[in-house]
Amino acid sequence: MPESSRTVMDRLSLSGRTALVTGGSRGIGNGIARGLAEAGADVGVVYRKAADQADRFVGELHAMGRSGSFAHQADVTKKSDLKGMVDAALGNWGKIDILVNNAGTGVAVAAEEMSEEDWDFINDVNLKSVFFASQVVGRQMIRQRSGSIINVGSISALVANNPQKQCHYNAAKAGVHMLTKCLAVEWVDHNIRVNAIAPGYVETDLTRPFMQEHPEQAEQLWKMGTLQARFAAPSEMAGAAVFLASDASSFVTGEIMVVDGGYTLR
Ligand code: NDP
Repeated sequence: MPESSRTVMDRLSLSGRTALVTGGSRGIGNGIARGLAEAGADVGVVYRKAADQADRFVGELHAMGRSGSFAHQADVTKKSDLKGMVDAALGNWGKIDILVNNAGTGVAVAAEEMSEEDWDFINDVNLKSVFFASQVVGRQMIRQRSGSIINVGSISALVANNPQKQCHYNAAKAGVHMLTKCLAVEWVDHNIRVNAIAPGYVETDLTRPFMQEHPEQAEQLWKMGTLQARFAAPSEMAGAAVFLASDASSFVTGEIMVVDGGYTLR
């Protein structure tokens, strides 16, 4: 179909596309993976520990017709595991159209008490892994001469949000945002677009413990600090991901799309 006759809904479709999603078995990654599949993509659900959830989810994807979907175990901090992830995708699909670098974690540690191990752990999971996953998948996308990479950053890269003592996490996420722009510039001639989503407060296993242990702070600082006065569900990150993965965003690269219910407006 000539480009000029494709409607915007045609261009949003991910039918026939293939997507690797790290941390795809639960939380935000699961919301994004589900959205990509609903838009038509087969999904490689990359998990580290949550094997049962990953397998159950792949069963759901098969039931909805995304029969090329599969689960794959990988620790994103290990380069050999990232290579294994790419080999699994190429074995299943022969190509990789979309990579979502979502896997991440956070730990609260006061700056004056932070050890080198604390710093390295958070930066390895949240930033270094994003670079090396992008590198190993990017090499394949360069061979294909096409691809869309979506990194999950954070509003914590944009504001030093109280009361979380997590300067290592915030710095890592700021690194993810800048890395997104740098790779967008480096790989534009290979027809690879690189963008990021910066979520606000999303209710997941990552944020729930703080909400339960500090309900008043979570209510006042997180929920009421959000213009829409609520937390997001993981599924609310899917729209941005589908848009950025699809041809509907063909002129969008190096963008940090803030999806935060207005948290960073004030
Ligand atoms: P969850 O804790 O719910 O899920 C984290 C996911 O990351 C899990 O699927 C986990 O896999 C995976 N993961 C963690 N470490 C590794 C690793 N070393 N190798 C492979 N996979 C790993 O977190 P969220 O869904 O809340 O967060 C997802 C992303 O969104 C993160 O990058 C986070 O920083 C970011 N974010 C979250 C916000 C929020 O409010 N929740 C706000 C802004 C950004 P497994 O279960 O298999 O171990």
